[in-house]
Amino acid sequence: MAMRLQILGSGSAGNAALLQTEGARVLIDAGFSCRRLNELLRGAGTRLEEIDAVFLTHEHGDHAAGIEGFKRHPRAEIFANAATARAVQQKAGREATWRLFETGTTFRFRDLEVTSFSVPHDAQEPVGFRFAQGEDGDLFSPRRSLAWLTDLGHVPAHVHGHLRACDVVVVESNHCPKLLEADHRRPWSTKQRISGRHGHLSNADACELLAANAHAGWRRIFLTHLSRDCNSPEAVEAAFAGLRARLGSSCPVEIVSAGGGTAAWEW
Ligand SMILES: [Zn+2]
Ligand SMILES: [Zn+2]
Repeated sequence: MAMRLQILGSGSAGNAALLQTEGARVLIDAGFSCRRLNELLRGAGTRLEEIDAVFLTHEHGDHAAGIEGFKRHPRAEIFANAATARAVQQKAGREATWRLFETGTTFRFRDLEVTSFSVPHDAQEPVGFRFAQGEDGDLFSPRRSLAWLTDLGHVPAHVHGHLRACDVVVVESNHCPKLLEADHRRPWSTKQRISGRHGHLSNADACELLAANAHAGWRRIFLTHLSRDCNSPEAVEAAFAGLRARLGSSCPVEIVSAGGGTAAWEW
């Protein structure tokens, strides 16, 4: 196994993914209650007690709700920048096992090389991640890498390079502007927040970002964090039809439905 990714849940009801390598079993975000997280992990063939670390993008509940329960599993190290850790800790009460990193730096956790980078979103200090493992040219452990990018209102220039450097990309495709506009359940201010510069990427935003960085080394794209009310798989499909055709069978584009997850995928 080089890298194995399974998205356990995606969308405003909760986000978490299980990333496994030869030497590490980690979560990217933990946006479910610990009980629910454990159910999801059991479905993926593991358990909360077997998680080595959690990498947190930001403190919003749909990404960090499970951290409180990790105090019962002190074996898991919780990686976050200081601002995010502080914000989560205020809600969580008792200490978790925090490992702080500085946004923009690269560090190692077991056989994983982890890079964080800042993204614009209405949280304390939100980040995206790049996870890599192995070395270029190594026959037994060739380099594999994953870009993780959710919860951002627009795309700063530095983000492009991270996508280009990876062979698997997870990116949010949050809303369809027409469906957001037509939504009657959200107040105007919430809609402004979602579509604003510190909110979430629309289908067109995500598609434009991918189209600008597409390269032959990409193995798979996962479109995540779909809004249940203000997006639909059909709207995403329509927005990405051109890109899907361009990427062809060498790089499938998988749409992760709101509230749903994926099967484990290994590369
Ligand atoms: Zn958020
Ligand atoms: Zn979110």
